[in-house]
Amino acid sequence: MVHLGEMQVETALFFETIEQIYTRVFRSLKPRASVPTVTIRFRKYANITSRIRLENNNLTVDISDLLESAPAPIQEALAHILLAKLFRRIPEAGIVARYQRYLNRTEMRRVVHSVKRERGRKLIRNPKGETYDLQAVFEELNFKYFDGLMARPQLGWSIRPSRTTLGHYDPSHHAIVLSCLMDAQDCPAILVNFVMFHEMLHLRYPTEHNGARRCVHTQEFKQAERQFEGYREAKRALRAFVEKEWAREALGLSSRGA
Ligand SMILES: [Zn+2]
Repeated sequence: MVHLGEMQVETALFFETIEQIYTRVFRSLKPRASVPTVTIRFRKYANITSRIRLENNNLTVDISDLLESAPAPIQEALAHILLAKLFRRIPEAGIVARYQRYLNRTEMRRVVHSVKRERGRKLIRNPKGETYDLQAVFEELNFKYFDGLMARPQLGWSIRPSRTTLGHYDPSHHAIVLSCLMDAQDCPAILVNFVMFHEMLHLRYPTEHNGARRCVHTQEFKQAERQFEGYREAKRALRAFVEKEWAREALGLSSRGA
């Protein structure tokens, strides 16, 4: 016998359709409500995305086709998560963890990455910006900190000026993207270098997946980050830049490069 939270994972599960799973979970969450007609559609999304809505007693669930072959306990976990969201409840932690563990399995991650690459387009601007050239920035850091040995990924400025994410590494597209907000005269070079260096370290120390938990900045990562020349100054520049940008937003000033 398998214990999976409060769910029933006995024989019934193996003979249920996905529609029946949703109906059963719906009943368990809303015992007094009338049971809706359930329609499940597997869609070719670029990501593991699912949507749920309830209208006129019709429950429609759109699920990424990447989950079409997921086993029943995973379908049931997703049903719990989506229905909890619909009813603005917090899903049981154990159920969320089970679903996350499934997504984090090596094979699943590989499939998701390749599908993202195929279906999703990564929209980024030319790495040669108005003030900074990201290819030059990358190569200088590569030479200085990585013996010039790091293979250059795709590089580019973001389309939208993000204040909250100054840089990110996208493993699906093997791309480092920096917020176009920093391609400006009033953004110090040390900050652009530092954000690029940080993203390069994500290439050097890939995300460690440990069950349901995702560990992005390991101790090893943080230690390597402190090797950046002028680390403290870079941190100060980062804080000053972010504070200035927040102030601009508070004043209702539009972002540059929008
Ligand atoms: Zn990071």
